[in-house]
Amino acid sequence: MANKMDEKLQVVYQDVLKRNPGEVEFHQAVREVLESIGPVLSKYPEFREGKIIERIAEPERQIIFRVPWQDDRGEVQINRGFRVQYNSALGPYKGGLRFHPSVYLGIVKFLGFEQIFKNALTGLPIGGGKGGSDFDPKGKSDNEVMRFCQSFMTELWRHIGDVTDVPAGDIGVGGREIGYMFGQFKRLTARYEAGVLTGKGLDYGGSLVRTEATGYGATFFVQEMLKARGADTFEGKTCTVSGSGNVAIYTIEKIVQLGGKVVACSDSNGVIVDEKGIDLELVKQLKERERRRIKDYVEYRKHAKYLHGGNIWEVPCQVAMPSATQNEINGKDAALLVKNGCIAVGEGANMPTTPEGIKVFLDAKIAYGPGKAANAGGVATSALEMQQNATRDSWTFEYTEKRLANIMKTIHQNCWETAEEFGSKGNYVVGANIAGFIRVAKAMASHGLV
Ligand code: NDP
Repeated sequence: MANKMDEKLQVVYQDVLKRNPGEVEFHQAVREVLESIGPVLSKYPEFREGKIIERIAEPERQIIFRVPWQDDRGEVQINRGFRVQYNSALGPYKGGLRFHPSVYLGIVKFLGFEQIFKNALTGLPIGGGKGGSDFDPKGKSDNEVMRFCQSFMTELWRHIGDVTDVPAGDIGVGGREIGYMFGQFKRLTARYEAGVLTGKGLDYGGSLVRTEATGYGATFFVQEMLKARGADTFEGKTCTVSGSGNVAIYTIEKIVQLGGKVVACSDSNGVIVDEKGIDLELVKQLKERERRRIKDYVEYRKHAKYLHGGNIWEVPCQVAMPSATQNEINGKDAALLVKNGCIAVGEGANMPTTPEGIKVFLDAKIAYGPGKAANAGGVATSALEMQQNATRDSWTFEYTEKRLANIMKTIHQNCWETAEEFGSKGNYVVGANIAGFIRVAKAMASHGLV
């Protein structure tokens, strides 16, 4: 996205297209990285000779399986399960599980590919992986979700473990689903292997701050970007946060704690605009406790507006934090954001901005923090959960949040300095891709041809 792909990388990219037909999100994620790393290959010719890029683009292992389960009417349902164990150069595969009807191999591979570099950026010993299913938890009863999760784990358990592969949550997978899957893993293996899943409940091995970590971390990252632009802060800034799930909720919470005002959030049906500032307790009640839709917000806050099918990026803001899903900001949305005075974009979601949108942000020279850097706080805190599980310890909220804040600060600094070193000062896309890539590539080069 920042540099042109050189001829040799073009060949690699064409090969990726040919070997992975139809997986458009995966192509997009690979392309973005290949467009950034040209300058690294001039500095480290051994990466080219060892075909590190060709090897990174190919997952180490891809598992696809049938997930049969019975709904409340007694009818048999069949979904498809995935786990892509992408790269273990830096540690056990680590990455979430997504339950959403749009999930197919191309989505899991894009997320797994991004995860390799994100996990490398955290500086922690975790490889990259991702998984999920085309199961739709929306509208399902607790019992249906439990039966699905048990069936999903009945296959997955043989592929995971605290030193092999450690899944967590993502879209459609929160504490409830992790609990059901952990229970089934324990039952099938007869082992209390706490570090096999992260995002667990606090009473059985979960870590304080894990629930908040992705949103808090993304907000800390934006705070660092604002600071780098000239001692700016969130104080008094108008912000918009797309989505109303885990990442969105805790992004809103931290923005407010840092003095900002969030005027809009959303779900896949529509947008809530509340000029007085989104009432977070109400969003938590509706989404976390009652599992309702965001449109119900206006039942309780009459002054707010619900825009059915609306576009959140039309709401003017100084800071935008996309926290819903991939490709939710296109070129037009990005241009509108910039025109309306947006100075910083921090991605809580994975790949929420299209390549055209990224170009608009970079050309406008606003602070643009790509997901693989900005939302790395979630997986970083998962790694902290693994550390606590390994030592049978549990840390305080304050200590864990401080660790998270420090990690985000270090990721920001690493991206900033790397971008500058490779001639793209202020470009966090280049900084994140190169810094993440170098760490993984060096480890792969040390491991020989594996
Ligand atoms: P949740 O399932 O908790 O929430 C997802 C939110 O995004 C919901 O409000 C949902 O609305 C909305 N959404 C999902 N799909 C779409 C869509 N196609 N169009 C519009 N809105 C949509 O997921 P998370 O908050 O955990 O994840 C959000 C993003 O953050 C994802 O990109 C995920 O990969 C990324 N992420 C999550 C991490 C985590 O720790 N959870 C870590 C790092 C990244 P609706 O209810 O209508 O579907």
